[in-house]
This record gives sequence, structure tokens and C-alpha cells, in this order.
Amino acid sequence: MKISAIKTFPVFCGSRNYLFVKVETDDGLYGVGEFGITWKEQAGVGAIEHMAHHLQGEDPLNTEWIWQKLFRGDFFPGGRINTAAMSAIDIALWDIKGKAWGQPVHMLLGGRLRDRVTCYTGIGGATPEDTAQSARDRVAEGWRYLRLSTMDRAGILEPRTAVRDSVAHFAAARQAVGPEVDICIDVHTRLDPPDTIRLGRELEPLDPFFIEDPLRCENPQSYRLIRQHVSAPLAVGEQLSTKWEFRQLIEEELVDYARLDLCIVGGLTEARKIANWCETHYIKIVPHNPLGPVSAAACLHLDLACDNFAVQEGGLVGHPVMTDLFPVQVPFQAGYLLPPERPGLGVEFDEQAASHYEFRWQTGPQLRRADGSFTNW
Ligand SMILES: [Mg+2]
Repeated sequence: MKISAIKTFPVFCGSRNYLFVKVETDDGLYGVGEFGITWKEQAGVGAIEHMAHHLQGEDPLNTEWIWQKLFRGDFFPGGRINTAAMSAIDIALWDIKGKAWGQPVHMLLGGRLRDRVTCYTGIGGATPEDTAQSARDRVAEGWRYLRLSTMDRAGILEPRTAVRDSVAHFAAARQAVGPEVDICIDVHTRLDPPDTIRLGRELEPLDPFFIEDPLRCENPQSYRLIRQHVSAPLAVGEQLSTKWEFRQLIEEELVDYARLDLCIVGGLTEARKIANWCETHYIKIVPHNPLGPVSAAACLHLDLACDNFAVQEGGLVGHPVMTDLFPVQVPFQAGYLLPPERPGLGVEFDEQAASHYEFRWQTGPQLRRADGSFTNW
């Protein structure tokens, strides 16, 4: 079998763009992948077009060879855009491999370790009372893990205010759902160490399942300081690519949960290696999934095959989108993703429907401090 074509599909749906990749083979099988760096989709298209020239005629089943060739083959490291493009292709190749061998992808990654994959969903509201009601509503739908986000006030993020607001909303959610439902908080890299430490200490009595991404990702060593002062579990890594960017976090055991984004980190090939490395340090994986149906499927297969899986970001799984573009998506029921039985990823892609979702140029949302200066979104 040989790769015969690699096609890109940047599409807009709802409020954002997605970038899907279709890898075709000379015997008629195809695989589908997804690119993970939102608001850089056209950079992804360009990177994938460069890679397509490398891959004409390659055997799509040689996933490790292709990974090494794409990562090391052009001499100059391409950074996260490059690895996100590689991720899309790698996931598509695993889809082809599963179809070629007649097995769901998780069976090729080691087999099925669990009957279902527990997911979390988002909660929030304008007031703590609204957040409490949102938490009650999600629990009534079957979700057992909830995630709150650190909030701004109408586009203004003042760190000390954000910490106070976050603690108030978290406390309201905890009171609403009791101790049996786990609640996480995503700080979305909005704080620096002093405010992170204050947030962590104030949340600890409220039993957070984890505090996610309090700091920007440039300096993983900054988590040493957080570790000295905060005992609440930390979840980090959705912006990171390849094993090398995870190296310090894992080897120094600076985090408790690795937020692998399979569509950025280097695909299933790289995510499987990082997950195994995490296992040797008692770190669990919580794959990042803010993307579309291919990302959700790829995460599900990894989760089914990794013993050190904790919980999966549900993303859109409770609300299927692009159902004409993806007429078959992975099964989901009341807070849980279920093992797909189909060979490959278990999603079907109808490229004819891509024309219904024309790409739109957009930039990411941005936040300011009260004095007008720029701050992290
Ligand atoms: Mg996050």
C-alpha cells in the first residue's frame, strides 16, 4: 500500500475553524486526521502541503518511520506548527492502519483496558449561583466530572480579582454537587506564580480534582515553585509538543496530570510514548480535546489503551457537530465515551460536505488588564 494523496480541509463551524486532513492510499483506504493549533489553520495547511511532498509513495503503515522523517527530515525544526501538522497526518495513518488490519485503533495500541472512558464537561455562569445551577444541570445529565474556568470581567482580567471570583464560583459548585462529583479548574495560563499559589491554597479545602495550566508554558521549571507551596494536583501540557517539551515536567514530577493534545504533541505515535513515560512517574494522562470529531476519536482510543488514564476532556462529544462532514462519530452516552467497534478511528469523513463550512479568517480572543495592558487569554 502507498500514500497517493494528502488533502487539507480548513472548515468553519459554530464559532471557530477546524483543520482536517485526509490521507488517501492507492488501494482505496483513507484515513482522517486533525490539526490542533486553533487560529493557525492556514499555517497548518502550508505545513501539511510541504509534508505531502515528502510522503508520496510511502507505506502508510510505517507510522514510526514517517514520524521520524517528518520531524527530522528538513534539518530546521519546525516547532509546534510542524508537530501539529505531523499529528494530523499521524492520526490519519493510524486510521488507515486500523482499517487495513480490521481493528479499532485502541487494539493496535495495546488493547482495551476499560469498558468506557469517563469525560468531564464545562460549567460556569455570570454569578456563583449560575455556576451552581450549571453544575447541578450537568450532573443531572450524567456527568461525574466538571470543569470550571478562571473568569475575567467583561474582557478585563485582574489576577487578584480572578482568584477571588474563581474561588467563589468553585465553592458554589462544590456546595451544589457535594463531595462525590469531581471538579477541576482551568486557569488557562492566566496567572503568575504568586497568584497561582494563592489560588491553590484557597481551593485546597474545596478538594479540586486538579488545577489546570496556571502558568504560561515557556518555563516549565516555574512549576517547581508552585509545587513547594500548593498540594492540590496540577494538570499541565495542552500547549506542548513532543516528548522533549514534556521532559522536565515528567522527570522532575512537577505535575500530576499530563494534558496531552494529540493534535499538537505529535499524534498517537508520540502521545503513546509520552503516556508510557508518565506511567513510570505515576503521572496520569488527561488528553486535551477542544477540537472536532477526529480529535475526540483519537483521544478515546489512547484512553482505552493506557492504564494511566484519568479522565477525558469531553469537548463537543455531548453535542455532535458537522454530522454531514462526519456522518459516523465515536459513541457517547451520558458523560462517557464508549469503545468504537469499527476498524480504524471509528469516524467516517465525507469530503463533499466540506464546502458547507467555508473557512473564515479570525483571530483568537484577547484579554486586557484594567490599565489597558495586554494579558493572557
Ligand atoms: Mg485548558
